[in-house]
Amino acid sequence: MEKQIIVHIENNFDNLVLKNNYDKILIITDENVKKIYIDSVLKKLSNHKTYIYSLIPGEESKSLKVYSDIFEYAISSGLTRKSLVISLGGGVVGDIGGFVASTYMRGIDLVHCPTTLLAQVDSSIGGKTGINIGNYKNVMGTFYNPIYIYSNISTLKTLKREDFIGGMSEVIKYGLIWDYDFISFIEYNKEKILNLDIDILKEVVKKCADIKIKVVKEDERENGIRKILNLGHSFGHGLEKIGKLSHGYAVSIGTNMAFKLALRRELIDSEYYYKLLDVYKYFNLPTTFKDIDEKEILDIMKKDKKNSFSKYNLILPIDYGKVDVFDDVTEEEILITIKEVK
Ligand code: NAD
Ligand code: ZN
Repeated sequence: MEKQIIVHIENNFDNLVLKNNYDKILIITDENVKKIYIDSVLKKLSNHKTYIYSLIPGEESKSLKVYSDIFEYAISSGLTRKSLVISLGGGVVGDIGGFVASTYMRGIDLVHCPTTLLAQVDSSIGGKTGINIGNYKNVMGTFYNPIYIYSNISTLKTLKREDFIGGMSEVIKYGLIWDYDFISFIEYNKEKILNLDIDILKEVVKKCADIKIKVVKEDERENGIRKILNLGHSFGHGLEKIGKLSHGYAVSIGTNMAFKLALRRELIDSEYYYKLLDVYKYFNLPTTFKDIDEKEILDIMKKDKKNSFSKYNLILPIDYGKVDVFDDVTEEEILITIKEVK
């Protein structure tokens, strides 16, 4: 895993060049992304023997069935240890594509071409790959870094609005955990961000990628500091599952909960708390939810692999742009918080 993490941030696929001599390339993508982008990617790879596996868009494709289908396709296409996997798509494609690359013949080279905001700022960086088994998310997987990540920012223009906005929730997270100046930058440029100004989006993605690289370099296997990336996620996972909310929306509500809890513990002041709500409001990110039973959320949090024994492991804000890991949060505090946010 001692690979350097290289991210190219571009606004087309023109510089997608491969230095090594690969005998075959397997592009793993999904149906939506394939329709829009496969031609321009293939054009750049015209000197190579390329194969395409396109999955049905959505989380359900991160399954053992699709994983083994891709394997069969790779074997029948004659992929060898000198072949390359390119993932072209969002986090779903990246996670399963990375898992295939890391396990095919004990690991072959991988390039990620993330095409969602979430994938560009988060899932393509840090080497986590995986699939779901039944209801258990990402329980089968590996840590495996790509040789590089190629983020074509222009692809964000064709994303559904909801997917773009959901990704903004992860973008805001980086400011909250690492660098409050970045929140000011986001606020100052909010119109441009919402209008998908490519130059600003490039800066945004670069900043997030830099922060994520710094964090994961210190802690590749999530034993320590990497946990701060989970701000809002412990609450969020419960909401995502029961409320059928998108990941990004669940994270903004989950972060609101983490802030509420921190406010009650007097870790932060109310000015900071209201500032957070303002930022979410600009981007139309939700901070509350209805029709969900708090006990159900608690049950999911209990099962969350990040919590140990009876106390809850939570990331809470302690100052502008700073968070810490708390392992002493009680069930009562969590229930009060969930009720307050409802
Ligand atoms: P996704 O991959 O399902 O993509 C969202 C939707 O956008 C899909 O319908 C897809 O077809 C479509 N799409 C993708 N790019 C497009 C484009 N440029 N234009 C038009 N449509 C496009 O979802 P996601 O939010 O990117 O990723 C979610 C996944 O990421 C989850 O499975 C989650 O577990 C995983 N994840 C992994 C990590 C990690 O560290 N590995 C981190 C966070 C999330
Ligand atoms: Zn997330």
